Amino acid sequence: MLKTLDDLPYRNQRVLVRVDFNVPLRDGDVTDDTRIQKALPTLRELAAGGATLILVSHLGRPKGTADPQLSLAPVAKRLSELLNKPVRFEGTPGPASAAQEAFVAAAEPGSLTLVENTRFDARETKNDPELAKVLAGYADVYVNDAFGAAHRAHASTEGVAHLLPSAAGRLMQRELEVLSQLTHAPEKPFNVIIGGAKVSDKIGVIENLLDQVDALFIGGAMAYTFVRARGGDVADSLVEEDRVEMAGDLMQRAEAKGIALHLPEDSVCAREIAPGADTAVHPSGQIPAGMKGLDAGPAALAAWTEQLSTAKTVFWNGPLGVFEVPPFDAGTRTIARAVAGLNGFTVVGGGDSVAAVNAAGLSDRIGHVSTGGGASLEFLEGATLPGVAVLEKA
Ligand code: ADP
Ligand code: MG
Repeated sequence: MLKTLDDLPYRNQRVLVRVDFNVPLRDGDVTDDTRIQKALPTLRELAAGGATLILVSHLGRPKGTADPQLSLAPVAKRLSELLNKPVRFEGTPGPASAAQEAFVAAAEPGSLTLVENTRFDARETKNDPELAKVLAGYADVYVNDAFGAAHRAHASTEGVAHLLPSAAGRLMQRELEVLSQLTHAPEKPFNVIIGGAKVSDKIGVIENLLDQVDALFIGGAMAYTFVRARGGDVADSLVEEDRVEMAGDLMQRAEAKGIALHLPEDSVCAREIAPGADTAVHPSGQIPAGMKGLDAGPAALAAWTEQLSTAKTVFWNGPLGVFEVPPFDAGTRTIARAVAGLNGFTVVGGGDSVAAVNAAGLSDRIGHVSTGGGASLEFLEGATLPGVAVLEKA
């Protein structure tokens, strides 16, 4: 069982909170504050209990040295606006520098301090016990709300949890509740839509969900490896030659289990991935020489939308086409709208899929939009997340 805020004596204590503030920046401004917003309920709950908050997060990949471009300063500013209260922040050479330690030590009761980027310290990604010790020294108890970083055993996500009374924050708790429901007891029919670039990235998720799923829709570039396994001609579409056999085997297993496995019957094809390229629709298994399948076609989208309509639970990961380059975004948009319009419980996970749902302005109409790209996929593969395992009750 996961330890939550309900199990943690945090009232009037100094609380170290690991958040996932790894947000996109441009010219020193936060361009998408979704991840900051998602951490607010936990921060508000702790603050209401009189906690003194010391927040830690990574941002980008500074490779263990202080990179001013990856300072959390813009995040401190945005967080302060969102909470409408001061956020203490001092740009320091690292999260455990003498200057940072002194700044944290000076935090008044009830204040909120954001510590500089944990990855400015090379010991973070090595899960170094000395760094964990410094971070643990900042507080009395530890809360991890950074689901997006839970698949990493780093000093701020794993090491420190061994040194202080620890619990999951509300975002972490919700992510795990939703994703566990998908793997253990989804309301049926349970439909899963998997797209994106590579079979090899997603096969673990598909296999782990096979015991629960009623219908599986495979789109995106990875669909062509499956179409090839069925003997189709996909011309220049992306195919992972070394996964064709695996795809064929998976289709056999799905059939033996009575799972309906859908591939896009037609594709929007072009010679090149270019904005506004000349396109033509062809059956996905009869793509003419010199062309690539770059999006699900209209017949596939109509059929999938219809088939999805009766689902009680839907999980979607992976764009159905090259959604970054119009016109190849149409399939992903259509499925995003279809999923958003369903009455059942809907979950979207994965970096690019979530970006597509946000870009379409539909995230409010999805039951749960996971903040963990890699973490949600690893969880759905059945892997143990180190940042979660350490928060389990003994
Ligand atoms: P997620 O981040 O949601 O898990 P992925 O990273 O697996 O998704 O896949 C997203 C990528 O897949 C996008 O960059 C998209 O352009 C690419 N993609 C989707 N369909 C195709 C296709 N038919 N051909 C080439 N690339 C594709
Ligand atoms: Mg991706």
